[in-house]
Amino acid sequence: MKTTINQLLMNGTKKLKQASMNTARLDAEVILAHQLGCNRIDLIINCNDEVDEKQQKLYYDKIKERIQGKPVQYIVGQQEFMGLPFKVTPDVLIPRPDTEILVESAIEEAKSMKKPLIILDIGTGSGAIALSLAYYMMESLVYTVDISPEAIEVAQQNAKHLSLTQRVYFYLGDLMTPLEKELYGKVDLLVSNPPYIPHHEIADLQKEVRDYEPTIALDGGKDGLEFYRRILKEGEKLLSFQGKMIFEVGYDQAQSVFDILKESKIFNEIAIQKDLAGIDRTIIARK
Ligand code: GLN
Repeated sequence: MKTTINQLLMNGTKKLKQASMNTARLDAEVILAHQLGCNRIDLIINCNDEVDEKQQKLYYDKIKERIQGKPVQYIVGQQEFMGLPFKVTPDVLIPRPDTEILVESAIEEAKSMKKPLIILDIGTGSGAIALSLAYYMMESLVYTVDISPEAIEVAQQNAKHLSLTQRVYFYLGDLMTPLEKELYGKVDLLVSNPPYIPHHEIADLQKEVRDYEPTIALDGGKDGLEFYRRILKEGEKLLSFQGKMIFEVGYDQAQSVFDILKESKIFNEIAIQKDLAGIDRTIIARK
């Protein structure tokens, strides 16, 4: 019997709904489009096309993975961020829409700064922040560091795919250690979305985050603020005369990070920006 795109979408959606997945139809569409190598819109246009048995099986295998809780982004290996496609694997955090605020803030800050800019992204993961900054700010050189070789590998692939390898450099290491000498006094924008979940809260995270996303990218130590303290202490000497630090923070951390930055007495002005849900999400510290 002939099995069409439409039937596969309906069956997949039904299975996902039965497993209480609340984005069932969307997930089924994203998974099938990925399996067939097309866009979601093509599924609608070609809804009566027949799908061969091999493709059907692979599609249902992926639906099964989704039912087990695997985020759809890891199943299809991709997530869009700032309008750009990023490859993701379970070695990197899935870029969040809220993090786009950090990128937008950095672009805004850059407008009044002397060019060309030197940008440093600490804990780059998939490279979502660093590569979108490089993409939208042509006059910038972007340095990135990550402690995970697997993450660096993913970020490098993303750089290649976005044709940004000429202006984005990758370093393996612990925070700014590999760049301490090279970038001393040179960094205009130091950006980071560091791991910020307090260690004792990791177990309470949403199952999909806890079981699938890399703990190393989430665990912010005893109180979740460990990396902000370290980046400030170790990164201060890398800042240029106009240097700024821009961080993403956890939903209840803005005041604590504000205080840490203020206590350092390095900055004249510290601003907080809200995310799409109205939560204080990004902190900008200006000298
Ligand atoms: N936003 C992520 C979450 O809520 C955490 C990201 C991070 O630790 N930097 O799961």
